[in-house]
Amino acid sequence: MDGGSTSETRVPPSVAVDEAVSTKVQIAAQPLYASRIKVHPKSVSGFYRTIKWAVLGFCLSVYYLAPWLRWDRGPNAPDQAILIDMPGRKAYFFMIEIWPQEVYFLTGLLVIAAIVLFLVTSLFGRLWCGYACPQTVWTDLFMLVERWIEGDRNARIKLDAAPNSVSKIAKRTAKHASWLAIAAATGGAWVLYFGDAPTLIGEIFTGRASVTEYFFIGLFTATTYTLAGLAREQVCTYMCPWPRFQSAMLDDQSYVVTYEAWRGEPRGKLAKKAEGADPWAGRGDCVDCNSCVATCPTGIDIRDGQQLECIGCGLCVDACDAVMAKVNRPLGLIRFDTLANQQARACGAPATHKFVRPRTILYASVLAVVGSVMLAALLLRTTVEMNVLRDRNPLFSTLVDGRIRNAYTIHVLNKTHAEQVYTLRAAGVPGAVLTAIGDDTPGDTLRIVAKPDSVANSRIFVTAPLAGLRGDASTKIEFRLDGASGGGRAEYRSVFLAPGR
Ligand code: SF4
Ligand code: SF4
Repeated sequence: MDGGSTSETRVPPSVAVDEAVSTKVQIAAQPLYASRIKVHPKSVSGFYRTIKWAVLGFCLSVYYLAPWLRWDRGPNAPDQAILIDMPGRKAYFFMIEIWPQEVYFLTGLLVIAAIVLFLVTSLFGRLWCGYACPQTVWTDLFMLVERWIEGDRNARIKLDAAPNSVSKIAKRTAKHASWLAIAAATGGAWVLYFGDAPTLIGEIFTGRASVTEYFFIGLFTATTYTLAGLAREQVCTYMCPWPRFQSAMLDDQSYVVTYEAWRGEPRGKLAKKAEGADPWAGRGDCVDCNSCVATCPTGIDIRDGQQLECIGCGLCVDACDAVMAKVNRPLGLIRFDTLANQQARACGAPATHKFVRPRTILYASVLAVVGSVMLAALLLRTTVEMNVLRDRNPLFSTLVDGRIRNAYTIHVLNKTHAEQVYTLRAAGVPGAVLTAIGDDTPGDTLRIVAKPDSVANSRIFVTAPLAGLRGDASTKIEFRLDGASGGGRAEYRSVFLAPGR
């Protein structure tokens, strides 16, 4: 086919170049970074604000007070209820003690927390973000302090615009000093989870704490001050990955904050009408007062629809309800609802909501399985563990009397707070006798003593007549460990090697 005979409209090369250049110029003119528009959230009261205060009070109390809770574990153990003992390589949570070998409990806990988050998000939207996320809780606290010192939204906007004065500098200094004090308390509380809180607090204030402890206090002070005081909503919008992938958990049956555009629009200021005329005729319920936008901690307008920046805090619901009450219109123009319900309401159909959906069934099932496995593992936890390492060099030794000897290292983990005496036996190898290295007295059993909360390591020989091994190069051997009263028991399977015949 002749290249010039196609029916396509050809763009002359000079025009194409001009367009490319103009597009380039347009792209170049676009700034890569948008300047931050400072948000000055207005205080609000109402149902969701009250819940937010309650959750904030609870979360902060737990965080600051938990290291001070005591839990009696007996004479040889720390009495702090929640403690991550790095030198002792153990974590304590009330009656539960986690050894490094049991780190899978922490993994399981994180998996459970993640699945609970998925389930809650698919049911109720961003409850975590709006109410319990540390970024939200501390930002709310910092904003409260800011409001106490600098006043509410309008006063703060005015203060920002005002030239420097003694009063402005005093307010700003008081605000930042208060924020730093809260941030330092947050960093200080964090390190208390890693040592005995009453001892550590004395050391911190008298300069006797370690460099590591001061480093972490400084780090947490800096991050709390920066994230909750300065960055605020920028963290949720730009830094946090959660809003990006939570959309995979949401569907039209998830509860989110919605604006009832079908009854709010067309919006407009409430104009005075002639006596007897309906002021609401031909218009929507939204009086365009901007209260919902002024209250929003991320500075967005929920009337524009669902947005990534919306953390689902519900403060705009409280703000709008207060306005609706004032203008005598039904509450709930902005409300927690599902998108499916909103669609139904818009058409005048009854609202329907399905809690049980494929995704919620999936999350609940996975949660049930992981939770059951974790619970079973916790309940079946023993007070002793044994690990056996067989010597590989040499694999075995042949003694002058023809018997075969294998060497093993036995690690016994005594998880109790008392010294334990264990009896070790070996089964499966006919005629086997055990000898502790350094003690030449052979016997059917060996005695192993393990100090409280520690690992006892013993090197032993297992010696057996070659004739009893029935020509096998490898014979299964099972080590059994029995503790005296309350010491628990443990088993470990290994092999006993001999020359092949
Ligand atoms: S739009 Fe409403 S729910 Fe969303 S972040 Fe703003 S105030 Fe909170
Ligand atoms: S608070 Fe309610 S009435 Fe006021 S602008 Fe927002 S949606 Fe409209």
